[in-house]
Amino acid sequence: MADLPAEFRQYLDTAFRVSPLEIATHRKSSDGVEKLLVHNGDQQVYECVLLPYQDRVSCCLSSQVGCPMGCTFCATGLGGFDRNLTTGEIIGQYLLLQNLSPRRISHVVFMGMGEPLLNLKNLIKAMTLLHEEVGLSYRHLTVSTVGLVPQIKELAKLNLPIHLALSLHSPFDEVRDRLMPVNHKWPVAEVVDTMKAYQKATGRKVTFEYLLINGVTDTPDQAAALAKLVRGFPNVVNLIPFNWVDTGQGFSRPARDNVRRFRSILESNGINVTERVERGHDIAAACGQLAGQHQGKFASRSNLTPVDQLSRPSF
Ligand code: SAH
Ligand code: SF4
Repeated sequence: MADLPAEFRQYLDTAFRVSPLEIATHRKSSDGVEKLLVHNGDQQVYECVLLPYQDRVSCCLSSQVGCPMGCTFCATGLGGFDRNLTTGEIIGQYLLLQNLSPRRISHVVFMGMGEPLLNLKNLIKAMTLLHEEVGLSYRHLTVSTVGLVPQIKELAKLNLPIHLALSLHSPFDEVRDRLMPVNHKWPVAEVVDTMKAYQKATGRKVTFEYLLINGVTDTPDQAAALAKLVRGFPNVVNLIPFNWVDTGQGFSRPARDNVRRFRSILESNGINVTERVERGHDIAAACGQLAGQHQGKFASRSNLTPVDQLSRPSF
């Protein structure tokens, strides 16, 4: 910016940072996945992942440092919550990853650390910037949520074709209650109805993410109930085998046969099913895993926020 006075440039230099994020750890997987653990000089680390595919390059971004939702299978949830990320910190992750990639990143998923809809204001600003300044299609932005009903309704009101994914993980309230404390507040029927309304408002097919945990969520009765629950409107069920983390709950990965059986029950009921292809295993690429290995990371964490304090939108 040579057209600005030298003194002013010097001031800008000392007062602002153009690339705000520092890299604490950089891991490269044998399958091309790269994962960064980043921070702002304060040791409050968060993760982002570059995911090159044959036909596109995608990335996975964090929305919070930690997460207050306390899901019992999740490494991030176990670590507690520090704070929301700023819009700059969200975009900063994208920019760092784009710098690593020789190909253009065309897809963004908010499936890193944190619950994106608890940081709705900054999330929307970041998605608007990714659309307007970076040129990404809203259709290529995916928000994954634990199921915060008021915030899903807020997002629907924007009337943008953003892809929404709900972490459902069981069609039964008694199972989902055990896995995800948020279910006490917004149970299965209510959150699925809200997803239907989102689908109608935006015209976008929605995704139901379904975590398969051995003997907990992978049973045939849950497959049949899930099929009944999501039948009749445009959606897809994405099956995710549990990525092992020691949560003290004794959860384990599902047997291959159980995954096959679960999938075939859904498909024979006319449900669209995809299976998450696991990548970056050798670099702990799954949600919260790398941050969990970062020494001292959780030392400053406050206690989990009780679920009844999470009901109001964050703006
Ligand atoms: N908070 C949001 C987005 C971040 S988590 C949400 O919960 O949807 C992204 C996805 O990773 C969610 O579907 C979550 O359920 C899943 N996940 C968390 N821990 C996991 C584990 N140990 N194995 C497999 N998937 C996991
Ligand atoms: Fe938070 Fe999502 Fe992990 Fe639940 S699964 S604790 S909402 S990051």
